[in-house]
Amino acid sequence: MIKLENICKRYDENGDYVIKDLNLSIEKGEICIFIGPSGCGKSTTLKMINRMVESTSGEIYIDGENIKDKDEDKLRMKIGYVIQQVGLLPHKTVAENIAIVPKLFGWDKAKIASRVEELLEMVGLDPREYRDKYPKHLSGGQMQRVGVARALAADPPIMLMDEPFGAVDPIVRKSIQDEFLKIQKKIKKTVCFVTHDINEAIKMGDRIAVFNDKNIVQIDKPRNIILNP
Ligand code: ADP
Ligand code: ADP
Repeated sequence: MIKLENICKRYDENGDYVIKDLNLSIEKGEICIFIGPSGCGKSTTLKMINRMVESTSGEIYIDGENIKDKDEDKLRMKIGYVIQQVGLLPHKTVAENIAIVPKLFGWDKAKIASRVEELLEMVGLDPREYRDKYPKHLSGGQMQRVGVARALAADPPIMLMDEPFGAVDPIVRKSIQDEFLKIQKKIKKTVCFVTHDINEAIKMGDRIAVFNDKNIVQIDKPRNIILNP
């Protein structure tokens, strides 16, 4: 589904590489966790998959197609993106925020409205209560739920999630994790998920990719991963 081949990245022409010769294949429908020390290139790798960041060299394929050959907007429509600072538009309601991508796709109003309902239910927010609220009236955990709903709105096959639940307190985090796993069981997205939280990695991951020293040093099922302190 997603294949990275000999990926190198440096942000400055004469600067140090932040990623060097990285290879990675992610299967359709799996959650692949990226874990490792801060600054070791996890977010950079994630952003190269939707071309928010260009690789310096190497190739990235999605469904066998080189992403360099794809229109950037079309590529991003196939990929849901969730980050820690979820970035809901403050002057738009919850429903309008979720509707952004479906609108770009040109869905009609009725289809968008019913999809918004469905998504809010899915992420555990009562549509009647939350549909017309503005982001400033939501808690951090509720914002993250809306962020997940927004990323899922047009049913993209791929989800890139960069510490999506990092900013919410542990109890809320557990419930969002559980909900996301429940959703994932049904919809089977291909997911790359960056986290600093080893418990989250073990709980959420089909496989864990351990980043260190500009590359992935270990990748395996959670039970086979050896974590060095
Ligand atoms: P991680 O997600 O593992 O914390 P990042 O991918 O965010 O790591 O960062 C990897 C390295 O690249 C860090 O040294 C960071 O400072 C650097 N970096 C990240 N984004 C940029 C950027 N836009 N410009 C220059 N350097 C960057
Ligand atoms: P994270 O580690 O969660 O990826 P950071 O706090 O390292 O996030 O970075 C936040 C933002 O700043 C990212 O968009 C990243 O690309 C950018 N950034 C990080 N390091 C640098 C840098 N050295 N120069 C310019 N931008 C950077």
